[in-house]
Amino acid sequence: DQPIRIAIAGHGNLGRGVEAALAKNPDMQLVGLYTRRAPERITPLQAGTPVYAMGALHGHTDQIDVLILCGGSKTDLPQQGPALAALFNTVDSFDTHACIPEYFAAVDAPARAHGKTALISAGWDPGMFSVQRVMGEALLPDGATYTFWGKGLSQGHSDAIRRISGVAAGVQYTIPVPEAVEQVRSGTRPVLSTRQKHRRECFVVLQTGADPGTVRRAIVTMPHYFDEYDTQVHFITHEELRRDHSAMPHGGFVIRSGNTTPENGQVIEYGLTLDSNPEFTASVLVAYARAVYRLHQQGQYGAKTVLDVAPGLLSPHSPEHLRAHAL
Ligand code: NDP
Repeated sequence: DQPIRIAIAGHGNLGRGVEAALAKNPDMQLVGLYTRRAPERITPLQAGTPVYAMGALHGHTDQIDVLILCGGSKTDLPQQGPALAALFNTVDSFDTHACIPEYFAAVDAPARAHGKTALISAGWDPGMFSVQRVMGEALLPDGATYTFWGKGLSQGHSDAIRRISGVAAGVQYTIPVPEAVEQVRSGTRPVLSTRQKHRRECFVVLQTGADPGTVRRAIVTMPHYFDEYDTQVHFITHEELRRDHSAMPHGGFVIRSGNTTPENGQVIEYGLTLDSNPEFTASVLVAYARAVYRLHQQGQYGAKTVLDVAPGLLSPHSPEHLRAHAL
């Protein structure tokens, strides 16, 4: 069998993660990296991987089976997703939850019109967590679903801190409150407020002359981002930030707690502990790229989400192999 020809559009954290993930999937081959920056400025993980300008994609439609879109959800994907779904089978990690229906429609129309398959919003949340939420609700209709995030670095909250006047640099960790997790695991189906479920911890480097008290107040009272949480702020040096906070860990749990009869409670838990959020997300995208290749071969065109894809399609193994070894 010829390997599935994969290309990457966008070379940030996720794009680098996809390169690493492809190295662990011998049935797929990386045929090119595409970037909006000058290609000579990009250093691929594997020397020898061709790097092209994004504009070259138009001429490469018959050389790529699945294009993995690694642009940001905020401004890159809303533009790149629909445009590239007219030319290629695609996978992306669009994670602006509230805009997913709109994004689905924007990608679905060009993909259908051109006979392409476009899997949107893969990753872990949305992604694997979404699958667990839907499974939990289907299997235990009388119940409650809880999602806890962390301990992990939140990009959005870290950006929000960095925009505060007096802040030179900083990161924010989201941390589940252990008592809340234990209560949920016990099957009592507690009603938990935002503050009871998660707390936030910030590590901030101040600009010279900035007042720590003023910066702390600006952070903990910031509407939506911090005001509904218990937030701790630590002031550190640039060196400490680089040494202790350069990794991008994340993770969390989806827990469904339900009852099949009044006397019998059932708890389902799915958990992730990730050293690198982008590398794990990239691993998910690569598995879904295999599924997209197969769905396209079956003539299933248009936009799809993780909820539309059977698990066996993600596996490098055949259905026969999976029936013999995985059931
Ligand atoms: P980055 O900011 O690292 O990269 C986004 C894009 O920015 C790249 O594709 C690249 O495009 C460009 N870029 C990267 N580095 C530079 C640079 N130094 N200078 C100029 N441009 C640069 O984002 P991530 O890869 O960390 O994340 C991408 C998206 O993944 C996030 O927006 C998030 O929405 C999503 N995500 C989804 C998850 C999920 O569970 N569903 C989990 C984690 C992330 P180009 O090469 O064309 O310049």
